[in-house]
Amino acid sequence: MFSREFEVESKAELRRDPVIGRWVIISPQRAARPQEFDTRPRRIRHGPCPFCPGNESLTPPAILAKHGPPESSGEGPWKVRVIPNKYPALVDCQDMSINSGIYCGRSAIGCHEVLIETPRHVQSLSELKQDEVRDVLDVLILRLGMLKTDKRLQYAMVFKNVGPTAGASIEHTHSQIMATPIIPDVVEAELAGARSFFESHQGCIYCRIIEEEMLIRERVVTLSPHFVVICPFASRFPFETWLLPREHTWRFEEMGKDCRVEFLVVLQETIERLEKALPGTGYNLILHNAPLRDEVPFYHWHIELLPSTSRPAGFEWGRGIHINSVFPEFAAQTLRDPRFGSVD
Ligand SMILES: [Zn+2]
Ligand SMILES: [Zn+2]
Ligand SMILES: [Zn+2]
Repeated sequence: MFSREFEVESKAELRRDPVIGRWVIISPQRAARPQEFDTRPRRIRHGPCPFCPGNESLTPPAILAKHGPPESSGEGPWKVRVIPNKYPALVDCQDMSINSGIYCGRSAIGCHEVLIETPRHVQSLSELKQDEVRDVLDVLILRLGMLKTDKRLQYAMVFKNVGPTAGASIEHTHSQIMATPIIPDVVEAELAGARSFFESHQGCIYCRIIEEEMLIRERVVTLSPHFVVICPFASRFPFETWLLPREHTWRFEEMGKDCRVEFLVVLQETIERLEKALPGTGYNLILHNAPLRDEVPFYHWHIELLPSTSRPAGFEWGRGIHINSVFPEFAAQTLRDPRFGSVD
């Protein structure tokens, strides 16, 4: 048994499954969330929006913020804010490892933050103006650079949950950053697969996927000079969509300044296509990126967009095999429809 003293002090733990090596975060403070054990689809919270200007006192103080030009003296109003999650899954605590017989784990050290993308109360990233999304990207890249300096952290997961079916409880558009002392299993599996392909084929598997998809074309949604959007061959979910840089690069935050506007246009347009093709459907957006400091030249960063069309979360994971009711070829064809393209 772990000592009671330790449990109280650390509050949360990362534990590793002794059979398959899967990491889980056991985080009692998450249970304090108003809807944690409500199994009905999550509802959007009513009452004052904690992410709107004027309600800053409802959230913890900002870690980082980008402000507009000063109105008279001092800083102008904020444009993007990064705040600690009010119900963090990981916390800044003493880094301790846990070894007990066959079991191993460690204190759930890390940070869990919310990036409020705009002071305007809008629900989608696709509704942001070009200078607003540029601010979001600048702040995100800045924050990733700051997290890199904390040697205890290995990985920063960047994701967005949009809509109640995808687990969002606040509709005001925001992203989350979760920095962990371990590499999440999904990314670890991708790194291992990409490394083994690199060693046996002297090339990047993601570059090969892009090559193949551009040849076949039927799963390509959009193509721009530096980015490609596809519905992957073995999509797990209906309308699963990936955005990849066409040039081989493993670190998202090193994206050249000249590509950033194009990236944001492609991302916003892809979200808009999904929103128009699947009205009212929420989605999860996840950045799959290199670990914070390790150089992984065999990897290729990308964004995965996973619409939550009919996801029975617990069942799907328990079964261990995804059953997808929509062929990615059909999903891509639907998303390519000019009616779902950008209105501009
Ligand atoms: Zn709001
Ligand atoms: Zn590549
Ligand atoms: Zn991925």
